[in-house]
Amino acid sequence: MKLNLKNLENKNKFSRTHFICDISSKLLGQYLVICGWIERVIKLKKLTFVVVCDNTGMLQVILKNQILNSTEVTKNSIIQVSGILQKSESHEFNFELNSKSIAVISKATLHSPLDLRSNISHLDTRLNSRALDMRNPKTASIFKIRHNVIQSIRNFLITQKFLEITTPKIIGNATEGGANLFTLKYFNNNAYLAQSPQLYKEQMMLGFDRVFEISTFYRAEKSHTLKHLSEFTSVDFEAAFVDYYDIMNLIESLIKKIYQSIIDNCKHDTDLVNPKLQNLQHIPFKKFTYAKILEKLQDNDIKIEFGDDLLDSHLKLIGNMHTEFYFIIDWPLSLKPFYIHEKDECEELSQSFDFQYADVEISSGGTRLYDAQKIKNRMTSQGLDYTDFINHLNVFNWGMPPHAGCGIGLDRLMMVLLNTKNIRETVLYPRDPNRLHP
Ligand code: ATP
Repeated sequence: MKLNLKNLENKNKFSRTHFICDISSKLLGQYLVICGWIERVIKLKKLTFVVVCDNTGMLQVILKNQILNSTEVTKNSIIQVSGILQKSESHEFNFELNSKSIAVISKATLHSPLDLRSNISHLDTRLNSRALDMRNPKTASIFKIRHNVIQSIRNFLITQKFLEITTPKIIGNATEGGANLFTLKYFNNNAYLAQSPQLYKEQMMLGFDRVFEISTFYRAEKSHTLKHLSEFTSVDFEAAFVDYYDIMNLIESLIKKIYQSIIDNCKHDTDLVNPKLQNLQHIPFKKFTYAKILEKLQDNDIKIEFGDDLLDSHLKLIGNMHTEFYFIIDWPLSLKPFYIHEKDECEELSQSFDFQYADVEISSGGTRLYDAQKIKNRMTSQGLDYTDFINHLNVFNWGMPPHAGCGIGLDRLMMVLLNTKNIRETVLYPRDPNRLHP
């Protein structure tokens, strides 16, 4: 049978003429078709007021003498309304649609567990009904800002000649030797979920010079904290012929660009979510050496010695002194993974940094080792079996340029931008030891 393509054209009976945000005085008197969900219905004698929302805004619709089946027109149901745009006398709306027809396309049959016009619903309840939570303008704004942030990161890195890559998430070796790996059955073998793209992005230095990846990675973190998830989004970048100072400069420019972009493009959303957000005042960000941080802690009667890691309680104290972005640089080599380069003038220290906002670690990075023998030695001294990394080490014998890079926790950065204490607010469907659904 021959298909008659003509008959298939323009069959979408659910199409709309405008998104609500595009309605302006230019359209007064015109016939519009709007699709969205019902926010509320108010009946006043022969008039019915229906407030309809789409993802971009809210519009009042007036129905005159039209009989509405109130069991069909329930809150949150999906409707298509058409009518003539007119000025509104209500104090809430500038315009309204004088409706010619209204059709319920999809009826909401379940009662909403969330109060979508206030912010009183508990986070757990919201996460359990996350899709519906996106109809709360404040929650929607969080993800619109997140979208903008990802876009500006991408734009920035591309203008700096970085190439976007995607590395495997199912891996055969415990990369970086980390303990917090999820294991899974992979046909007849065991495999792991990648905790970072570290080794692959370093390998790409061989041919690409500058790469970045924005992807989810996995850590079997058993701790229940406000800033750890089992699945998180990381922005990783790696560049050849640069060192950790160059990477810190790049982070500074990137953060500046992100703030500028949100302020320029997301005013409505930031007003809802974090009205105090303003452009960065304190550029360049301060750099404190690990040794300096130890001194500050010791001055506050904390017992800590060179080589000890900084605990949450230590970072809280430092964070109270610095509620801003800053770097902690030159960590003891013993605290860093095998791929981090030592400092040329002091082998006990590393060319590394953590990038902080108050007590929250946003990123860690450093100059990498590029000599295969040195990497082998470091693996051995850290108790790793280098034969597990033969493929990786081979790459370093094919002529590896010196390089440096970092991984930025996108969800943690969002916590700062949104001024929220709980990382779960920034992720659509967060995963933690207690949360695998929805
Ligand atoms: P932390 O000490 O806070 O657990 P980490 O030192 O293990 O972090 P890195 O391995 O250096 O973190 O990862 C780089 C960045 O990735 C971190 O600075 C953080 O922003 C983010 N990150 C790491 N683990 C998680 C996680 N479980 N949940 C959310 N973000 C994470």
